[in-house]
Amino acid sequence: MHRTNLPRRFMLLGTLAGAAALASDPAPAAVPRATGQAPGFYRHRVGEIEVTALLDGNLAFPDAALPNLFRGYDPAIGSRLRTEAFDAPGGVPLAVNAFLVNTGTRLILVDAGAAAALGPTLGQIPGNLRAAGVELADIDAIVLTHLHRDHAAGLLTADGAALFPRAELLVAEAEAAYWSDPGEETRAPAPLRPFFAPARAVLAAYGNRVRRIGVETEVAPGIRTMAIPGHTPGHLGVHVASGNAQFLIWGDVVHAQSLQFARPDWSISFDSDPDLAARTRSRIFDMAATDRIVIAGSHLAFPAIGHVARRSEGYGFVPAMWRSPL
Ligand SMILES: [Zn+2]
Repeated sequence: MHRTNLPRRFMLLGTLAGAAALASDPAPAAVPRATGQAPGFYRHRVGEIEVTALLDGNLAFPDAALPNLFRGYDPAIGSRLRTEAFDAPGGVPLAVNAFLVNTGTRLILVDAGAAAALGPTLGQIPGNLRAAGVELADIDAIVLTHLHRDHAAGLLTADGAALFPRAELLVAEAEAAYWSDPGEETRAPAPLRPFFAPARAVLAAYGNRVRRIGVETEVAPGIRTMAIPGHTPGHLGVHVASGNAQFLIWGDVVHAQSLQFARPDWSISFDSDPDLAARTRSRIFDMAATDRIVIAGSHLAFPAIGHVARRSEGYGFVPAMWRSPL
């Protein structure tokens, strides 16, 4: 008995002695747990042009809302895709991102986040811009992919004034015209009507700094807007080209990364034209996969830069690996 019990008793004594030694350590290496993440900016080079992804924050589409949020949503397929994507229980995660394009002579921001319009988990663009070494007054131009609040509310201060003191605001003519038209507001489906007043507030705040552009416009050498229709009447992407490198900031082609790559036919209910949005999504996926274009998405997981790959079931997203040096 003694022989078999002794080693265990020694181990127990040893454990207790160790615990006592730790408890009496005069200088424990206690570090308070962090309460926030590292700053949300990430740089990517496109030839001679620098693009910086900027995180505004994170949201989730709640489970219970999915059947109404996505047209054609099938709970069995959705549940399987979410399991395969290792989504946390409770909802489908999405990020809200903006992108800064530095040509070397001009700083062009693409979208500006949600500020406080969609809750406390967003509104980090100004802080992340500063963390990246850029002041609000440094921005020369802002291109809006569209006028929804998660892209445009961040253009305003809490009082509704223009947050960016110098920037010209480039908005597609079709986009500005649609959200400015009271007739369209009356005709719009009820869930879309609350989007109109905030869009008009942004256009009013920037006043004569708003430049209405065609959906295919050269913003600066190598930087062109590109029609990506369906989500909103003037929804556009920003195509960046330098040397042999190509990069497409595609705005809201994808809202739910874990669902819509596999099921490009599942359009979100906020789309102005869900059928057109679904056709556009398939076309852009096909183009990005075929031409191996690096893409960046407003709602992909930060830093939201990577490739589209063909899969046996639709498409998949292959995030770019963190790269240092640039
Ligand atoms: Zn969006």
